[in-house]
Amino acid sequence: MNIAALTIDGVREGLARKEFSATELARQSLAFAEGENPKTNAYLHFSRERALSAAAKVDEQIARGESLGPLAGVPIAVKDVILVKGERNTCASRLLQNYIAPYDATAAIRLEQAGGVIIGKANCDEFAMGSSNENSAFGAVRNPRDLDRVPGGSSGGSAAVVAQGTAVVSLGSDTGGSIRQPASFCGIVGVTPTYGRVSRYGLTAFASSLDHIGPFSRNVKDSATLLGAIAGRDPMDATSAFAPVPDYPAGLTGEVRGMRIGLPKEYFAGLASETGDLIEKGIYTLKKLGCEIEEISLPSTEYAISAYYIICTAEASSNLARYDGVRYTSRSANGGSLIEMYRHTRGEGFGAECKRRIMLGTYVLSHGYYDAYYKKAQQVRTLIARDFSNAFARVDALVTPVSPFPAFKLGEKLADPMQMYLSDIYTITGDLAGIPCMSVPCGDTGGGLPVGMQILCNHFEEAAMFRLADAFEKAGGPAGA
Ligand code: GLN
Repeated sequence: MNIAALTIDGVREGLARKEFSATELARQSLAFAEGENPKTNAYLHFSRERALSAAAKVDEQIARGESLGPLAGVPIAVKDVILVKGERNTCASRLLQNYIAPYDATAAIRLEQAGGVIIGKANCDEFAMGSSNENSAFGAVRNPRDLDRVPGGSSGGSAAVVAQGTAVVSLGSDTGGSIRQPASFCGIVGVTPTYGRVSRYGLTAFASSLDHIGPFSRNVKDSATLLGAIAGRDPMDATSAFAPVPDYPAGLTGEVRGMRIGLPKEYFAGLASETGDLIEKGIYTLKKLGCEIEEISLPSTEYAISAYYIICTAEASSNLARYDGVRYTSRSANGGSLIEMYRHTRGEGFGAECKRRIMLGTYVLSHGYYDAYYKKAQQVRTLIARDFSNAFARVDALVTPVSPFPAFKLGEKLADPMQMYLSDIYTITGDLAGIPCMSVPCGDTGGGLPVGMQILCNHFEEAAMFRLADAFEKAGGPAGA
């Protein structure tokens, strides 16, 4: 068995042919992941006992001849902001380094109900704030495709483990691009579902009106299967949608002839030249598959970054107020009065990026500035959502680059937060509008760095998005041109 190249189908077949048991696979995956981890620092911890007990359940089902769930025996990593009961949930923050999850996130429960085997928690940027995974209190993650480069962020660990082959699939979270951008940097598939498609119960909140949980995988079908397993209404999350969940893998028919695809012209300015060339070749493949391509405009795009960094910091400043050393967090040893204890705990515990966001967010919400910043940003958000609904009246999907450039060198953008924020210029609009979007591999640059193509569809149209991505993948991506 080539463990690093396994897919969900490969696991199912291996179990059916008795090439391995779920327990053997879990043990081998854990050993492989632990052995490889020093190269990338992509896992923060492993959940050995939990994995072996989940695998044992699958083996018992097999022994009893029961039908298996869609993820039976599949080794899965989960970003360290998604609660797995009894395991640490650090959010890559010093503040939560000893925090043990007291309950399971709905997504974690559903993974295991489908037979999945959670083997560990993946590194990320602190509280999911960042675009390079360099904001982790426990060290940066290295990109398995080039160890001198970042894997993207904030779900850099979740992307790296799948690219490296130490998990078959993983879960990440996306608030402004944190699934698609790392997927693109690591050369794998990453999906941000419709807002409300997947329950966030048990996801540590960053910016609640923008947070999503979504899958990473090495092919489109595996993300379709994984999303199908975790999606759907959850009474524990009032923002989760009642919309029925289609059978996503069954919808991968390869039939995309006549699909109308819009290219928003605002997303094609300022691209690194090789990125632009690869996306152009990718578009040509779509044309050859019979899609109808037209240029469209999303005129409010230029305001998206400004609106995002007002809305997400405002929400973060409120969500992060709970980490005060009383309930969840490691308390500072430098006591004093209650106020001093708060100040020391937060001052010593939060990294620089979290502090920057808390200050910005508090500022934009403060009296006298609320109308000038926060309210304006919400109005811009409405305009961005309107741009998309106008576009989807004409086309079935939009295709764009994921990031203006491929993975950059570790340290390259650390000194300049504005440069870092620009990494997300093409991804944050999808989150602001709450529509489903994904990154699908679109070839490598001459230097061997992967580039991702973004597909965006209308609310709850994940099935069409997967169908297009799968047809593109099967056609060979940009090489099919
Ligand atoms: N990179 C963006 C940020 O820093 C997005 C983060 C995310 O999606 N969690 O906010």
